[in-house]
Amino acid sequence: MNALQYIKKEGLKNFSLEEWNNPEWCLKHTDSRLVIALDKFRSNYCNVGIEPSKHPEGWARLTGSPKSAHYALDRLSTAGDWFPSHSARQVFLQAIQSGLFGGLGFYTDTNGNTGKPQYMIHSDLRSGSLLWVRHRGEYYYPANGGEQEDMFWKVLANANAY
Ligand SMILES: [Zn+2]
Repeated sequence: MNALQYIKKEGLKNFSLEEWNNPEWCLKHTDSRLVIALDKFRSNYCNVGIEPSKHPEGWARLTGSPKSAHYALDRLSTAGDWFPSHSARQVFLQAIQSGLFGGLGFYTDTNGNTGKPQYMIHSDLRSGSLLWVRHRGEYYYPANGGEQEDMFWKVLANANAY
């Protein structure tokens, strides 16, 4: 079921549709299981510290690589991008610990919904677990070891803890 149908039918405990920009489009193309996971996460871990990205591509994409969890042509997106309103590193760690998501990325080169630089977290429902950071447009996967692993920790270490 898509997230729009689900929310209209069941509602979410901790999110309202108005928190999305154009929810009729974004959530129609997004898997309900993803918003259910985010709802649990918001409730269990950081209360209101999650701002859904207002960028439609932060939810679903009808173009680009089918390898992206956001890809939603003939399927539903299983990914969502959002901004922790504070303590971004801690929220990222909590998202990892929650076990609610398969893929989690921490982005240092993004602008928040206000247009000002703000850390972003990508969360998706892939099977297995994949972590990464994106810094200055480059992706670093700790699972690759070596310099990529070093950069993963370095980027997080240098991310302000606001
Ligand atoms: Zn994303």
